[in-house]
Amino acid sequence: MTAYTHDPIIAIATAPGRGGIGVVRLSGRDLGAIVGRLFAVPLKTRHAHYLPFNDADGNAIDAGIALFFKGPNSYTGEDVLELQGHGGPAVLRRLLEHCLNMGQDLGLRHAEPGEFTHRAFLNERLDLAQAEAVADLIDASSEAAARSAMASLSGAFSTHVNALADRIVHLRMLVEATLDFPEEEIDFLEKYQAGKTLVSIQGDLAHLIAQAKQGMILREGLHVVLAGQPNVGKSSLLNALAGDEIAIVTPIAGTTRDKVTQQIHIQGVPIHIVDTAGLRETDDTVESIGIARSWAEIEKANVIIHLQDARTQNDELDSAITRRLPARTPVLKVFNKIDLLDQEALDATVSKQSTNEVVEEIILGISAKTGAGLNELRQKLLDIAGWNPSAESPWLARERHLRALNLAGEHLNLAAEHASHSDQVLDLFAEELRLAHDDLTSITGQFTSDDLLGEIFSSFCIGK
Ligand code: GDP
Repeated sequence: MTAYTHDPIIAIATAPGRGGIGVVRLSGRDLGAIVGRLFAVPLKTRHAHYLPFNDADGNAIDAGIALFFKGPNSYTGEDVLELQGHGGPAVLRRLLEHCLNMGQDLGLRHAEPGEFTHRAFLNERLDLAQAEAVADLIDASSEAAARSAMASLSGAFSTHVNALADRIVHLRMLVEATLDFPEEEIDFLEKYQAGKTLVSIQGDLAHLIAQAKQGMILREGLHVVLAGQPNVGKSSLLNALAGDEIAIVTPIAGTTRDKVTQQIHIQGVPIHIVDTAGLRETDDTVESIGIARSWAEIEKANVIIHLQDARTQNDELDSAITRRLPARTPVLKVFNKIDLLDQEALDATVSKQSTNEVVEEIILGISAKTGAGLNELRQKLLDIAGWNPSAESPWLARERHLRALNLAGEHLNLAAEHASHSDQVLDLFAEELRLAHDDLTSITGQFTSDDLLGEIFSSFCIGK
């Protein structure tokens, strides 16, 4: 993304494709001249004008609503013009091109991804966590995620972060004031109950970290790979979990030759499931490419479901697969087709399930066909994700936020160490507080590099 300029920018703000209404949006420091060229009548701010949208020769492109917002009272903090027309791709493209032609010599250009929101951030209409929440709200794939993104957007997360940052500043001010009067240093911590205040700040931060973790799970979800021999029921399990016919299920081994990815939700948590080609020795070139891709997916997974046929549990090929699975990734060993087991074999599988803690692996018996055991499997996935339904996060969080909160926590711990030292090193105490404060304010973007801003906003869609 280029550095912030005040060039007027334009984009189609609504999603590509057909829709009842489509919106073309412009933003710039002063759109007066462009508006004057587009419309014969002056536009009142925040007033819905129903007008013809004509091309330069006076031919109608469309007719719709023109809304003008005089800066700074607009989404971007600049002048904003919204043209609401019919939501067809051709008509919106014509309207966009017409505006570009009319405004070209005034510097009007296509907006880059996220440029409207980037300007809103730079003009202090939103802080960085709120700006990120705009993209997260648009991308939210479950109602729970959308609710939490909206809470972040309205500032709930930022308010907590700022409150904590303010308390740290306050404590630091006391320390710095004491540093100016060295004879009082010894009394300082008791006099202002600095130790107690620090413990209370640490407690609040720990609470915020726990909530942010939940918020991150809700945003990022869990990447699960279904691995196993051909024909053990991987595609059937994917379909059963998704409640839909996504992967092709046939009794011929080697049907799934490439990966199939599906996103499902369990209690609002997005679970991205990859169904892979069955892992076996093969001479078929296409199939072996699929198998190589399966192993590549397995390497990237957060969780691996090693699916096996309950009737041939841990046979030679399964043991070979087990040995190749990455040691760092949690593995759920799931025995499928328990509907085909006789009672004795079923009891043996269930008893293995109960010994899972001893052998340090999670074993489950399921039937993709009848649905038996699927709820337990869903719950295990949520457990591995770390999801705590009673602590549903009131906001969405990103890895960047969690990293900053954890770093702030480390600095507070160091501050506590300096405070507990026999000859309390007050300047080091103050320095750690300053660093913790900087980490917290990086979340809301008070001190943020252009590179980070570029990275954040470039992942937005165009027109937002
Ligand atoms: P994949 O190659 O591992 O993806 O296996 P599929 O999902 O294509 O299933 C292979 C065969 O096993 C199909 O005929 C399925 O109908 C059958 N199958 C899958 N799951 C079950 C199950 O739980 N019980 C029974 N009886 N058959 C199943």
